[in-house]
Parts: sequence; structure tokens; C-alpha cells
Amino acid sequence: MHVSDFYTALAPTPTQYLTTLNGKRLWIKRDDLNDTQIQGNKLRKLKGILLQAEGEKRGLMSFGGAYSNHIFALAAAGNRFHIPTCGIIRGQELISPERQNAMLKAAQLNGMILHFVSRAQYRQKAEGDIVKQQLATADWRVIPEGGSHPLALSGVANIVDEIVADNQIGNAPIPDRLFCACGTGGTLAGILRGVAHHRLSTRCIGVPVLKGADFLYQDIRDLNPAADATDWDLHLHAHSGGYGKTTPELHEFIAFFEHTFNVPIEPIYTGKLCQAVFEQAKNSDSQVEDWLIYHSGGV
Ligand SMILES: *Cc1c(COP(=O)(O)O)cnc(C)c1O
Repeated sequence: MHVSDFYTALAPTPTQYLTTLNGKRLWIKRDDLNDTQIQGNKLRKLKGILLQAEGEKRGLMSFGGAYSNHIFALAAAGNRFHIPTCGIIRGQELISPERQNAMLKAAQLNGMILHFVSRAQYRQKAEGDIVKQQLATADWRVIPEGGSHPLALSGVANIVDEIVADNQIGNAPIPDRLFCACGTGGTLAGILRGVAHHRLSTRCIGVPVLKGADFLYQDIRDLNPAADATDWDLHLHAHSGGYGKTTPELHEFIAFFEHTFNVPIEPIYTGKLCQAVFEQAKNSDSQVEDWLIYHSGGV
């Protein structure tokens, strides 16, 4: 299958009404439903990268931890579109197969070449010896962690195209606020591009899932130099202790949310995101507004 044919045929994801809290009508855009393998924001982010790789006939190399949704999605995309892939994985101990999780096994089944490196080596990323060796043997294009490359922005901006189209047919409003989870910030950078393109006055708020994520202000502006054409901010205190960390309150919230709305979310990204949005709505004044949560998948 060709990358361009696949993306052309892709159906827009639905926006669903959740509830009203303090005058805030909460909606969710269900990108968790777009693809079972290359899911959520990763499908959006990979579009430009895959289109380029297919044209160039080069493989794609990238980086991630053992639970990286990006590595999982990239491997699945490589298999589907016949593009060679290589993953540099943080954690040398994972070299023994019995310590590998289902996501890494799936990546290998999808044909991805995996290299396990120590945390120190991982920090060197593209300068590391294993990467240099690989680059000497084959012509890989190196994609940053999380797929956050300037080429990722246009695919992510398609989310906003769909929001506008949905509004034109009366399915959902143009939101006053749009919320998304942030890891590396590529998704928010792309959403900001889409919001600016459509000249919306939507305020965009990123919810970083890691602690001390102030650096994302700069990373997002580096990825999208026109970011400040849109009203945006980061909500830095909804990380529940840091990346991969959780609290009993977070687990309770996720159970409440899934039970009430029948929408699956997870503790790493979308659980923290939805919890932060519900908190903000509860603590807001009673002005009537439409707030849209971007469900980035990962379930
Ligand atoms: C990777 C991921 C994110 C983070 O996206 P960034 O573009 O790195 O900010 C958010 N949600 C889910 C479900 C993800 O898998």
C-alpha cells in the first residue's frame, strides 16, 4: 500500500460530547479510533515523514523507551508500507528477550531492527556509536524521539482541518479551548499550526506528562516558529509526579471517566490530560464555553 493512498482514504475521527461542568461543555476528539496499529497522534505525526521516506526509498531510524508508542507505531508503519525501520531502545538489559515487553516484540515482528543501548549511550542519541555504525551500513533517515520533526506538523494540523469540517456540517463547535497531552510537544506544535492556518481564536493548552517540562515552551517554538501566532500555554502541574508516575487519584479518575463515558484512556498521557481538563473546568468561572480534549490514543 502507498502512504499517500492510505492517508487519502483515512476517515476523519469523530468528536463526541462528554458532559457540561460549570458551564464548560466538554467534547473529545477520538483519535484513539483512527488505526489499531499506528494509533492516535502517531498516525498524524508520521504522515509527512512516511511520505518523504517512501519517495526517497530510505529506511527510518528512531529512538524510544521500552514502552514508546512512537517506536511501536513506526514499526507498524514500516511493515504496512514496506519501509525498513530501526529502533534505538533505551535500556541495555532489554537485550535478553525474556525482559522484552509485548510492544518491543511486536516491533520486531513488524520487521524493525532493534538496538538496545545504555541510558548514557541513549543520551547521545544521533551521535552514538551504534547509530554511526548503522548509518555506515545503510542509508537511514534519523527521526527524533517521539517523531517530533518539523515534517510531522502538517499531518498533525489535519486534526484542525477535521474540527473545522465537523463544525461546517453542524457536528461539533469550534472550541474556545483545545487541550492535548504533551510528551515532546510535537503534537501541540502541529495543532498550533492548524489553528493558525484556519485563523481560529481557539486557546490551545498542552498538558505535559513529565515533571519540570518548562523546556517545552522552547521546543515547541523551535518546531513551529510561528507558534505564537496562536494563543497557547502549558499546564505544567498535572503530571502526577512525573513521566510514567501515577497517583491513586489519577487511577480513580480514569475509572470514573471510562465508566461514565465509555471512552478508554490510559495513565501515561490521556488520563492525566482528561483529569487536568476536568479540574480546570471545575475551578473555572461559570462562563459558557466549548472545550475540546484531543484524545491522542495510546490505549
Ligand atoms: C506520544 C504520545 C503523546 C505525546 O505527543 P508529543 O507529540 O510527543 O507531545 C501523547 N499522547 C499519546 C497517547 C502518545 O502516544
